Amino acid sequence: MKINNVVVIGSGTMGSGIAAQLCNANIPVTLLDLKTEISQKAKERIEKSRPPLLIDKSKIDGIKVGNISDDFNIVSEADWIVEAVVERIDIKHDIYEKIFKQRKKDSIVSSNTSSIPISVLSQKMSEDDKKDFCITHFFNPVRYMDLLEIVKNEKSDLEKIKKLKIFCEVDLGKGAIVCNDTPGFLGNRIGVYAMQVAMTEAFKMKLSIEEADAIFGRPMGIPKTGVFGLYDLIGIDLMADVLKSFIKELPQSDEFQEVAKEITLVKKLIETGYTGRKGKGGFYRMNKVDNKKILEAINLETGEYHPTQKINIKSEKVDLKALINRDDRYGEYAWSVISKIINYASSLVPGITDEFNDIDEAMRLGFNWSKGPFEMLEEIGVANFFDKFKNYKGNKFLENLSKTKNENFHGVRQKYTDIETLGKVKKTAKTIDGNSSASIYRFNDFNIVEFTTKANALDYDSMDALKKATDKPLIIINESMQFSAGVNLTYTMNFADKSDFKSIEKFVKYFQNTCKELKYSKYPVVSAPSGLTLGGGFEVLVQSNFVASHTNIVVGLVETMVGLVPAGGGCKEMLWRWSQTNESKNNPDYAPLKVFDIIGYGKTATSPVEAEPLKYLLPENKKIMSRNSLLNVSRSIIEENSDFKPPAEISFKLPGKALKEKMIKLLEKLYNDRVILDHGMVVGTELANVLSGGDTSIDKVLSEDDLYKLELDSFMRLIETKETQDRIKHTLSTGKPLVN
Ligand code: NAD
Repeated sequence: MKINNVVVIGSGTMGSGIAAQLCNANIPVTLLDLKTEISQKAKERIEKSRPPLLIDKSKIDGIKVGNISDDFNIVSEADWIVEAVVERIDIKHDIYEKIFKQRKKDSIVSSNTSSIPISVLSQKMSEDDKKDFCITHFFNPVRYMDLLEIVKNEKSDLEKIKKLKIFCEVDLGKGAIVCNDTPGFLGNRIGVYAMQVAMTEAFKMKLSIEEADAIFGRPMGIPKTGVFGLYDLIGIDLMADVLKSFIKELPQSDEFQEVAKEITLVKKLIETGYTGRKGKGGFYRMNKVDNKKILEAINLETGEYHPTQKINIKSEKVDLKALINRDDRYGEYAWSVISKIINYASSLVPGITDEFNDIDEAMRLGFNWSKGPFEMLEEIGVANFFDKFKNYKGNKFLENLSKTKNENFHGVRQKYTDIETLGKVKKTAKTIDGNSSASIYRFNDFNIVEFTTKANALDYDSMDALKKATDKPLIIINESMQFSAGVNLTYTMNFADKSDFKSIEKFVKYFQNTCKELKYSKYPVVSAPSGLTLGGGFEVLVQSNFVASHTNIVVGLVETMVGLVPAGGGCKEMLWRWSQTNESKNNPDYAPLKVFDIIGYGKTATSPVEAEPLKYLLPENKKIMSRNSLLNVSRSIIEENSDFKPPAEISFKLPGKALKEKMIKLLEKLYNDRVILDHGMVVGTELANVLSGGDTSIDKVLSEDDLYKLELDSFMRLIETKETQDRIKHTLSTGKPLVN
């Protein structure tokens, strides 16, 4: 079985997401629904989706549409038929009957169900058909959520399942985990339980929703949406349906029943249309007071809303031991939630999976946790855990562990895949150095630097780690969601607040110096980005010798948004790239004007396909669907370049004053049209100064250091202004740009 052609039946949220991901993998796919208009609408939704489901919008016609009455014969051509219709067993049974009559013999059929057991789905199938049937449970949004749970039945053709798994891993880029046929499989069983525990404990301990979200979030290595924020995002009504299904499917004795009970306040929210972000609001709501938008939070006891309160738990890092040992309500809450999750997850082994390791990975891939329950236990320490936790009678896993007291019980990571992932390699690699912003690992004969700060924002220490790691071939890669959101603005503002501009200058110089060293070091440097690769993050990438990029990157130079110019070599490298074009040969203004437009507007690309026309990425950069494969691809780049020689230094000839004036004219037009305001003019003028080459003329040769100097000088002039500082503060507190 080779998958060259797929039919997806049901073009709703999931069907359209699956079709889009197949289109991303260049696999011809047909979307069928009750009516062609429904699948046609789905296609339009795919095209308009944000964040975009498609890597390359121009490929949209790789998705064909049709309806199940007139176009069902297309099923006979498909190698894989995915059913993603409404969660109704009668409808699903009817569809399977039709599919198995029509499909070709060596095809495979799967359902995207999230709650119906495979034993029930396949009830009416012949023994032969059962062989070719499984569940492929994707998560929403399909392009961005890496988890895929595959559930087989007792008759499944294991060879075929394996082929499908590999296809989903390599071609579709999913973390495909095979699991048993139990309610909610792995991800939702533990993930929804965890949400319910976090919610019910907050009620019990009388924590505000802001407090609960501040703890059941980043401090635990869980996305910052927390629990109430996540409830609003998913939909409070949808969550109620999910809980009903768990209550129905799970035995009365299951711990889940305890935390899934209906909560009066939640019921009232649903009844009054407060179903979350898609409704009037939810636990949080946006209210308009005196024409100003104010984010409000609900009081769990009274049901009244109040303006949200910022909770500072005074811990930026994920440090579970410190968190659960805090001598306050927050520590008590964290311990109660974490211990219950560990207890529940371990009580389900081996029932839901033989590999407890897979539960950790499902939480990582499906819920974006940085550590699953068993890794949390490992971090807390087995002895520490049992010092505090006594109530594990009947939990075989914990009973056993309490006897062996094996602190290293966890072992290898990411067992679900044969790919040699960063997660696996990290466990066996030697940690050679590191600091609070990055770790350096030595594996075989190369180094790995992994940034470790919030959103991998870069500071002096991040640069220090990179610098120290250039004594061998180097791969810059990480497991967290973002490659790097750019320079750490909080770090920069801390200096600016004290008017300590000397320290900022020192940092920027060190940043430039490090990036230059990456570019010209004796050994090859490979950047393997995924997720946000912005500002300083992009500058690290662009001054690496090679790039192996995940297809889900968001890349760009966005410094002007916060009133700055790229000063780590971003202007310089973009100028160089654009000056290599044919158009540039006869027109010295061409490259600077192009870059002025790109950086001036802070343009970003949401995939390598969008990044290439902007020259954020180059055709020779590798683009990879499977995030797990980034390390392997980076390694082969190093191996293929055993005779690596650093590139020759580059130089520039730029027009200087006349071009700067041209750029200022463009700015004046924007200013007159009120697209930009006063400070926009200042920032734009600084950018014009850098990109035109400053005080130069076309016959003068500028070195890379000259360009670095221009970047640095403009950056320093801007950071010293109140208006740039206002922009930074605004972005730090709201996540949005300030137009001033
Ligand atoms: P949806 O309601 O968005 O879409 C369902 C689609 O099925 C609709 O377009 C509907 O017109 C179509 N449909 C109904 N009857 C049909 C029929 N007889 N033939 C063809 N099409 C028919 O639902 P969804 O959220 O995409 O869920 C689809 C499946 O995926 C369900 O089994 C659900 O449990 C599962 N799932 C959903 C999510 C999620 O987050 N939404 C996540 C994982 C799994």
